[in-house]
Amino acid sequence: AQETGVNQTVQYHEKLTEQIRHRTLIEVYLRSALKENQLSLQYQPQYELQTGALRGFEALMRWNHPDLGCIPPSDFIPVAEETRLILPIGQWALRQACETLQRLAPSPSTLTISVNISGIQLLDEQFPTQVSNALTASGLHAERLELELTESSLLDTLDIAERQLKSLQSLGVRLALDDFGRGFSSMNYLRKLPFHLIKIDKSFIHDIGNATEHEVTGSMIQFIKQMKYGIVAEGLETYEQLTYLRKLHCDFAQGYLFGKPLQDNQLSTLINPV
Ligand code: C2E
Ligand code: CA
Ligand code: CA
Ligand code: CA
Repeated sequence: AQETGVNQTVQYHEKLTEQIRHRTLIEVYLRSALKENQLSLQYQPQYELQTGALRGFEALMRWNHPDLGCIPPSDFIPVAEETRLILPIGQWALRQACETLQRLAPSPSTLTISVNISGIQLLDEQFPTQVSNALTASGLHAERLELELTESSLLDTLDIAERQLKSLQSLGVRLALDDFGRGFSSMNYLRKLPFHLIKIDKSFIHDIGNATEHEVTGSMIQFIKQMKYGIVAEGLETYEQLTYLRKLHCDFAQGYLFGKPLQDNQLSTLINPV
């Protein structure tokens, strides 16, 4: 038994060393990813549930490294945040997303683009100016840009976050609270913040098929609706989930049932159906 314990400890340390090596490689390589054009955005369509109309897209970052291959955002976004590389990378994503939507769907199109914003970006004093500049440079109307923020990025520094969100609100962009339900925050404080929409975390959408859990999702949707927020469901994968969300008058949804994230050159058939 003791031998097994030693072996497990050795294995554990090997695994840990491997993880640290991987983490260090990511950090080193991430420093040059942007200027070497290894980052790109994919776009996942969002649909209006009552009409079936396309609402817009969520931009999701992709990193393809020549040696490491495709590294998922869950591996590199945390590293980008710890090293603050998320500031230049996030600014690039914001500009790229606005330009792509304006190029593929110029006004009078009202399709929206949702961009994920890290807490580090939100707290950066320059952030509202950068958003304003991205709008001016691309020509995109402010109300077509939606910024997605998570609760965890707001909690620590609520007063700064609140001030920054109000500056963004005054620019006319939409603000969405991402991954709703995953954290533990009370609605009392969220209501003080100028969010337009709430995105329900995909774990709650996946619970819809589950006899004992789906009522939690249902109550959550009714509660959010009573507070007059728009609702986006993410991670929609089955017709059963779709039927349920429609019945509850959830506004918008995205997920593999409707479509995976796509390259920008694959979007035009969705935007201009033949
Ligand atoms: P998120 O913002 O919650 O994004 C939704 C994730 O769910 C995406 O994973 C998307 O590809 C995936 N997804 C979409 N439809 C389905 C579905 O039907 N079922 C399931 N199981 N998953 C679905 P992805 O692209 O790997 O991104 C993971 C996370 O990385 C994002 O979660 C977001 O927190 C972060 N992220 C991605 N791009 C950016 C970015 O540009 N900036 C920042 N700060 N974070 C980003
Ligand atoms: Ca998101
Ligand atoms: Ca989410
Ligand atoms: Ca997330």
